[in-house]
Amino acid sequence: MDVRLTRTGHRLIGLAMMMVVSAVIGTVVVAAARNPSQQPQTAPPPPPSAAPVKVALPTKYVVLTFDDGPDAAYTPKILDILAKYEAKATFFEIGKNVTKHPELSKRIHDAGHSVQNHTWTHADLRHLSATAFRQQVMSADQAIQAAIGSTPACLRPPYGGMDPTVRQRAKALGKDLVVWTVDSRDWTKPGTTAIVQRVLKNVHSGSIILMHDGGGNRTQTVAALPTILKSLKAKGYGFRTLNC
Ligand SMILES: [Zn+2]
Repeated sequence: MDVRLTRTGHRLIGLAMMMVVSAVIGTVVVAAARNPSQQPQTAPPPPPSAAPVKVALPTKYVVLTFDDGPDAAYTPKILDILAKYEAKATFFEIGKNVTKHPELSKRIHDAGHSVQNHTWTHADLRHLSATAFRQQVMSADQAIQAAIGSTPACLRPPYGGMDPTVRQRAKALGKDLVVWTVDSRDWTKPGTTAIVQRVLKNVHSGSIILMHDGGGNRTQTVAALPTILKSLKAKGYGFRTLNC
């Protein structure tokens, strides 16, 4: 899948410049992580002390995404864990949930994570009239705009449901459609160990990992997340948000 990390030529140039810098840093990070004398499970990641720019994007990275929130019970716990491991993520939020907990969307945004559009009520976009499609997307946009002060440019279609009409309508509204490449299937509640193993077995650099902070009981997701983050960091992965 084509991961849209940039939206404008201006940003592309900026990203390209940062990539050059981070490529140099990335070589050091990967080399250190592969040192056989190290213990990958316990060795801390090398500090990016030589970084000549303020924010260097990691060259070996994953994109963590959390869907269906915000949720009063689970979103704060997930934010605390992400902060502990200094990981940034992208949250695809349901507009109706944002209107219930705008303070959580604000907290996500203020912590440096990305807040994006997952429709107003988690509707399957393949089965809507043009008017209903527009309402699903625009209402969620407005709720998020009211909560965080900026409007999402990325849209994750519920159920990953896309067809040519969905693509055309999303494009007409200026939205980039973003799905995922690694599905933790945490929503099936398969057990904490199964969630951890599913992510770690399938992850590659550039993977977009799907998890959920809302939409049901996410106790297993919360329990799995520290192990996932610890393991990814030990393998030399950094974390990027989608640049929507
Ligand atoms: Zn969803």
